[in-house]
Amino acid sequence: FLSRIGQVEPQVRAFITVTAAEARERAQRLDSRRKADGRDLGPLAGVPVAVKDNIVTQGIPTTCGSRILEGFVPPYDATVISRLQGAGAILIGKTNMDEFAMGSSTENSGFFPTRNPWDLERVPGGSSGGSAAAVAADECAVALGSDTGGSIRQPAAFCGVVGLKPTYGAVSRFGLVAFASSLDQIGPIAHDVADAALLFSVIAGHDRRDSTSAPNADRVAQFQPGPDTSLAGVRVGVPREFFAAGLDDGVRRAVEAAIQHLGSLGAEVREVSLPHVEYALDAYYVIAPAEASSNLARYDGVRYGYRSPGAESLLDMYLRTRRDGFGPEVKRRIMIGTYALSAGYYDAYYKKAQQVRTLVVRDFQQAFAEVDVLATPTTPTPAFRIGEKTDDPLAMYLADVYTIPVNLAGLPALSLPCGRVDGLPVGLQLIGRHFEEPLLFRVAHAFE
Ligand code: GLN
Repeated sequence: FLSRIGQVEPQVRAFITVTAAEARERAQRLDSRRKADGRDLGPLAGVPVAVKDNIVTQGIPTTCGSRILEGFVPPYDATVISRLQGAGAILIGKTNMDEFAMGSSTENSGFFPTRNPWDLERVPGGSSGGSAAAVAADECAVALGSDTGGSIRQPAAFCGVVGLKPTYGAVSRFGLVAFASSLDQIGPIAHDVADAALLFSVIAGHDRRDSTSAPNADRVAQFQPGPDTSLAGVRVGVPREFFAAGLDDGVRRAVEAAIQHLGSLGAEVREVSLPHVEYALDAYYVIAPAEASSNLARYDGVRYGYRSPGAESLLDMYLRTRRDGFGPEVKRRIMIGTYALSAGYYDAYYKKAQQVRTLVVRDFQQAFAEVDVLATPTTPTPAFRIGEKTDDPLAMYLADVYTIPVNLAGLPALSLPCGRVDGLPVGLQLIGRHFEEPLLFRVAHAFE
């Protein structure tokens, strides 16, 4: 994998940091431990994993794709990193991302954009674009991303790989740098469903160091891919609102064919309705910036990373550091969020958005009274061209219109490749009930 990185990384640029020396050393240590006592080194023994750069790694720089964290070396590991290590995995590098996970193309990285391995003129998606591109380009075996509104599933769809946004609370957020705390989840990105399920089983579980970690996260059953690919008895719902205006014709055809295929495997397919999802994007772009404006208050030049030189006072130092350290999208979100939370506007915007969120949650509850899984496109279009949406934030926001409702409801959802349009991968999104990841894996595995 390191030599593959050497070959393709100059074009793809999936990594902010490649931990070649540490990875070799760890591999050697694992080898000698196995030779010494023949012990089982764990389910991921020797497997090189790439990790999104908003997951903290002890002694290894963690930037969140932001200049403001340049030079920050965390003094501890995120829980998912400790779990990977316990399973024998090898960290091969930290992947590029939109700054603080705000974006859908990895073009908002404070360092450089990542390119889509299938077409270097196109974006890999985002914000976990580095992780998805690294898997697609064979620069690692599997990767971790994070998903606040689609940042695992959308890049997985654009890069033709499998990505899972777990149930909120299934995977510890301890050591995940917070963007929007009520929406963020870490999840696996992999070549196939079995790999994604294996990685998920290693990182999932209750963690007392994350107060939003679910006590029953340990019981997220482990999925064992079997020879049985029948979907008899599985009810698949197709929400009609996801097939309305804005959906690319080629994507529609690929997803409709995929749903038909689920039917031919024995699933019972029926149409359902989620009448409030059309407001989910709007609610998200109040709630997520509101949480972000609060979470990002800590970057003040005092505690972490970058500090602007030449300040004349403490206030001036804060101002210069945030002016020079944050990119334009992050500043936009901080301003929107601060505005939405301010006295006099709180009820009109933030509270209203939370009420819409409740309506979206209820829509899903009603649908899951009738069906077991929902099937939708992951994205309205295949990967777009680099630069195509950089001047139009609202067009960029629409890239997540099918993934965002899932985060608002805290549900698990998986994106898997289901065909191509003009040579570009298309993703099928499967959404499940809380903690029903095993069913998502089963359906996805039968499909692939
Ligand atoms: N693209 C969405 C945003 O910019 C979602 C990002 C994410 O899931 N981290 O907020």
